[in-house]
Amino acid sequence: MERTDALKAIMEKILEYDKIVISRHIRPDGDAAGSSGGLCGLLRASFPDKTVIVCNSDRSRKMGFLSVPETSPGELPEGWFGDALAIVTDTATSDRISNPRISEAGFIIKIDHHIDTERYGDINWIEDGRASCSEMIAIFASAFPDRLKLTPEAAACLYTGIVTDTGRFRHRGVDAETFGAAAFLLGSGIDTEKIYAELYLDDISFLKYKSAVYDSIELTPNGVAYVFIPLSMRDRFGLDAESASLAVSFLESIRGSLIWIAFIENGSDDPAGAGTVRVRLRSRFLDIDAVAAKYGGGGHARAAGATLRDREEITDVLADADRLLGEFKSSNADLI
Ligand code: AMP
Repeated sequence: MERTDALKAIMEKILEYDKIVISRHIRPDGDAAGSSGGLCGLLRASFPDKTVIVCNSDRSRKMGFLSVPETSPGELPEGWFGDALAIVTDTATSDRISNPRISEAGFIIKIDHHIDTERYGDINWIEDGRASCSEMIAIFASAFPDRLKLTPEAAACLYTGIVTDTGRFRHRGVDAETFGAAAFLLGSGIDTEKIYAELYLDDISFLKYKSAVYDSIELTPNGVAYVFIPLSMRDRFGLDAESASLAVSFLESIRGSLIWIAFIENGSDDPAGAGTVRVRLRSRFLDIDAVAAKYGGGGHARAAGATLRDREEITDVLADADRLLGEFKSSNADLI
């Protein structure tokens, strides 16, 4: 759907419904939390007579900076979703929506910037060229200046989503429109010093974890950097799965390692089950989503993920990534 048509159709549905339920993907990152929370704040301020909630099954410790509280699907009575409009942000496929009751909703809108793999919405506004879903919500907010009221709190959620999903405006995909959206959000009077403090200050214990991860980094023959984080390591530093998984970002600035991967062992608290392994793949200059797809995962060209049955499969993923990097380097010797 073209953007102008999508924006118009989405606004029409929002005006039509009195009840709006917003969800995002499981294991929320800054963009999932920011786009859903920001949209909620935007709609609440703009339509005070409507009921607007964010409803998700899981929570993230990193969501302290977001001001919108979330409801669990189980808290809502039988039949609640029937006359509600559901808006799902930042979620490519229906199996990753953090709300198993979304299909009960009267009408579903999907707003997403991932590759267009599943159109589970009745309206699907998908732009895989946008660097974050929060940017899309900012575009939506700016398209209806007379109808929509962006509070500094909602703008802070969206700005956080943009900043985190673009690696502070560094990733490929950041373009003039991204900065336009950021400028629009900054215009609402948000306090960026506070946002950056929330995002980038660590507890000393987390620095010790970083140090342990740095110590355990390995390289394949062609330079794929990787770490394996066993449950015991999580326990040693008292970290939950999400915080431990941030390890992937510690590997991003190694010269010659154009692909880097964190393997994080899942505990019994993970839906995939104890002993399975979460894989977080990242790259620069070349695409790695095909490697994730081979193992049943997906994501973006340069930031993808998958879940392995067990740690034995790690060797296979590394062999695939190493081969890919070797081939790439053989014809791109100048890229570091
Ligand atoms: P992550 O490393 O979890 O931040 O994921 C990077 C990207 O890959 C995100 O866009 C995720 O939505 C996507 N992704 C991660 N794991 C999976 C999976 N098992 N299946 C499909 N997409 C995934």
